[in-house]
This record gives sequence, structure tokens and C-alpha cells, in this order.
Amino acid sequence: MSPVGLRVDVDTFTGTREGVPALLDLLEAAAVKATFFFSVGPDNMGRHLWRLARPAFLRKMLRSKAASLYGWDVLLAGTAWPGKSIGRELAPIMRRAQEAGHEIGLHAWDHYAWQAHAGRWSDRALIDQVRQGKECLEDIIGQSVTCSAAPGWRADTSILSAKQALGFRYNSDCRGGGIFLPLLSDECPGTPQIPVNVPTFDEMARPGLSMNSFNELILERLTASHYGVYTVHAEVEGRSMAGGFEQLLKRAAWRDIDFKPLGALLPEDVHRLPTAHVIRGAVAGREGWVGVRHT
Ligand SMILES: [Zn+2]
Repeated sequence: MSPVGLRVDVDTFTGTREGVPALLDLLEAAAVKATFFFSVGPDNMGRHLWRLARPAFLRKMLRSKAASLYGWDVLLAGTAWPGKSIGRELAPIMRRAQEAGHEIGLHAWDHYAWQAHAGRWSDRALIDQVRQGKECLEDIIGQSVTCSAAPGWRADTSILSAKQALGFRYNSDCRGGGIFLPLLSDECPGTPQIPVNVPTFDEMARPGLSMNSFNELILERLTASHYGVYTVHAEVEGRSMAGGFEQLLKRAAWRDIDFKPLGALLPEDVHRLPTAHVIRGAVAGREGWVGVRHT
């Protein structure tokens, strides 16, 4: 069957320090290479999670046991003290992922700020955020960073048009099926998008959903579709749900699912890819708007 893209989103300091080494071990044992999208600037993610502390979200947090899913240290990061710089303190862990043969891409300079403000930022502010993150990650890994994934899938036509200035080889900024060229503000096709088409664990988490049934559901989806890109989070699958992810990797191998870094899915001749718009839409289980492929 066709290869399935596997991306690891790393949003926080704790996710980098603890989740990434655990995931590197699991992936090595399964002989799988993935794409790691790193956040390299300040970790203010606690602010993001508490900003959402509306009653409905609080109920969901309690129901889905967010504290046990993410850990209190993740929920509190950057709330009471300035966010720690992830790249400055944890660069060796990012280099370990690179040395293990995984593809390295940029997730964020400041994940919280992007999720909270990217929809309102000027082109200049958007470009500055991405450039700062890209340069920092390039300093860390000593080579050029050729792919990125917008935090929280917060991307639309004007955000993608601004990101165009950074010259990535591909981006994975939105949700939807199939690789395509996004139409930018001037209606010209931009850098290829490799969208995510399968839900994440935190989107599906609800009482009574065991890790086993979640894994089966995901593997069914990946087996049934001719296109698949799956996302795990260092904060979740690298920590409280590591056992479940280990099982998913084993069962995927039984089903001959061939996980690859996202870059390996890109065709040689990208100019022949279909074009589509990226618009603001919604994904079940995810707070706020996300970029979605609009045919
Ligand atoms: Zn993220």
C-alpha cells in the first residue's frame, strides 16, 4: 500500500525534553522515520490552554482529563513565569532526532502566540515569526530547514501567502485529503501542502474510548484511504499515551502500513499537483478555526 506520512508535533519545553526522547526510542524500535516539527522559541503554551478556560472547554478538560493527558507542567508553562526558551535549552535533543535520520521541520517560534494571533497578524509579523523560528532551528541543526507546519493548523490564504517568502520545499499547514498547491492571494499556486487527514488522539479523546479502539479506528482509516498523514504530539504520545502509540506502531506494521517522513510523499514533479484554496474551517474536537483544504 502507499506510504503514510507520520508527523510529530512538538509544542512545548516538556514535550521536547521528555516526549521527544521517548518517541525517538519507540520509533527506533519500530524502524520508522517520521517528520519532527519543533517549536524553538518561548514556551507560553500554558497560556494557550488557560486562555481557553471557558466553561465548555473546562468541562471538556475535566472530562478528557487534560491534566493527566498533558501533565500540569505543560498546562502551567508560561503562565506564572516567562516561557522558557525551548531551542536554547534543548537543542541537543533536536539534534538527536536529526542524527537518528528523521526529517526536521519548523512548527513554531512561539506556538501560543501563533495560535492566539496569527489570524490577525500583518504579513510582516507573520514572516518575522516564521523567519525567527526557521533561523533558530537552522542554527540548531546546522542545515537549512525546508518544511514547516503551522501551529494548531492556523493557516488561510493570507497566512500562506506571507509564508511563501520563506521558501520552504513543502508545508503541512492544514487539514484535508491529498497533496496540493494552495492558491495564494494573487490566485497563483504556492508551495505544496501535505495536509493531515486523520484525527489526532486529543481530538478524539472522550470517556470510554480506549487506546485500543482509538488505534483500530486510526489504522482502519489509514488502510482504507489512498492518502494518509497522521499526527502525534510529543506532549501526549511521548508521555501519558506512549504505551498506546507503541501499540499503534506494532499494529501498523502487521497491516503493512509504511510510515514515512512527510517529505517522502512529495512527488518529483510538484507542478502537476492539483490546486485548491485553504480556508478557515473546523475540525471536530479541536478548539477554534483551522485551515482546511477547500476543493
Ligand atoms: Zn502544535
